[in-house]
Amino acid sequence: MEPMSSRSPVRPLLAGVAVFVMLAALTAWVAACVLPELAGPTSAPLASEDERSRVRDADGAETTVVLVSLDGTRPVDVTPARLPSLVALGRRGLVAEGLVPVDPSNTFPSHVSLVTGVRPEIHRLVNNLFVDPVRGRFFRNDPHSWIESEPIWSIAERQGIPTASYYWVGSEGPWAGGPGPRETRRFSASTPERRKVDRVLAWLDEPDPAKRPRLVTTWFHGADHAAHETGPDSPAVTRLLAVQDAEIARLVAGIEARGLLASTTLIFVSDHGMVLAERKIRLEERLRRAGLQGADVLGIGGFASVVFEAGSGNDAERTRAVAVAREAGLEAWLREEAPADWHVDDVRFGDVVVRAPIGTAIVGATTRIDGFHGYPGSEPSMAGLLVAAGRGIEPGTRIGRISALAIAPTVLALLGLPIPEQMTTPPIPQMLRGLAVGRAPEGGRDDTKADARATRVGGGQG
Ligand SMILES: [Zn+2]
Repeated sequence: MEPMSSRSPVRPLLAGVAVFVMLAALTAWVAACVLPELAGPTSAPLASEDERSRVRDADGAETTVVLVSLDGTRPVDVTPARLPSLVALGRRGLVAEGLVPVDPSNTFPSHVSLVTGVRPEIHRLVNNLFVDPVRGRFFRNDPHSWIESEPIWSIAERQGIPTASYYWVGSEGPWAGGPGPRETRRFSASTPERRKVDRVLAWLDEPDPAKRPRLVTTWFHGADHAAHETGPDSPAVTRLLAVQDAEIARLVAGIEARGLLASTTLIFVSDHGMVLAERKIRLEERLRRAGLQGADVLGIGGFASVVFEAGSGNDAERTRAVAVAREAGLEAWLREEAPADWHVDDVRFGDVVVRAPIGTAIVGATTRIDGFHGYPGSEPSMAGLLVAAGRGIEPGTRIGRISALAIAPTVLALLGLPIPEQMTTPPIPQMLRGLAVGRAPEGGRDDTKADARATRVGGGQG
């Protein structure tokens, strides 16, 4: 997670909520903040009982996928010293060299890409902080409503497969075009992993097959908080992960004790890596000194957007902002002129987009941390982890770096669900051993963004 912006929301109600959440975050999780969902979130399934599409293994067991995110945890953290239970699970299954995150490699866009299989410019929850020209500033109280490409839980629910989530960015309610998970929990940073594991196992114990979730997502604190504070290699990270490792062990043992490992695929991922930055650049301060009073800098670490307040931000000012950022040693572009591989073709990325090189971080006036992310996903230090075991995976499987966009189609394939057209990254074959994979519709697929956008709201399911 990325710390909140140093700027406070202007509207009093939202300011109050922000203050409350910031206090909560300070006690439990200083560097992170997700506002709780305010309204009741669940959605009814769209398919009738008869239309239920169920995949059963040969022994008749209904197949299940449990997807767990360890925030900000790197592949190199999967060691006997830090995450012994995950090392043990990996021996029995698959370990990837790295899970390449989308850009920007930040918690909100990355988690949404993990469950939608598309880049932020398609699902449109583009960053932890952003401004929509019509809707205004993104606040974290209803992230689901900002998502415009169909998440896997919506696809599953529409096919009659029950889903549940004990935290995942965007899981607390319906996305812009369909349902959220039918079981969700309001986010609180103070919820211990023990409670999440208890609940996940209780969900798997549900005796009524019409209610038992077969797609379960949950989010663990991971290394993120301590790694932001003191760097990813600090002893504090080891201590933070030890408690969570015990819960990973309990989750695996619980699934095994229920005889479910053969019919369940257990997938651990993370949203981004972390890196120490020696050099820090207060970009907003520099823009102000250059006379650009209406320029807000949204984001810290390896990527930020410059957004001009309404009424300012003419061509000369925007061009000046690019020049100021470049003079500071940053890479900067007018958003419309940014290289295609930055994938910022969405007005929500702001007027000017800026990248910092590894070792340098864009910071705000009050930023007091040393670990950062948000750098290009191609940077090895930004890689997330992928460890998986159970149905579809052979023990001892080792794969190289793989795109985070492969997770959503892989989950759908494991559940026997067709992969919609907008998910252009193929599923991971090493996680689908002996299973048939469907894709709908077949043929004539076009990987262009316009095509993906055409199918994002309402789902691209044929
Ligand atoms: Zn994160």
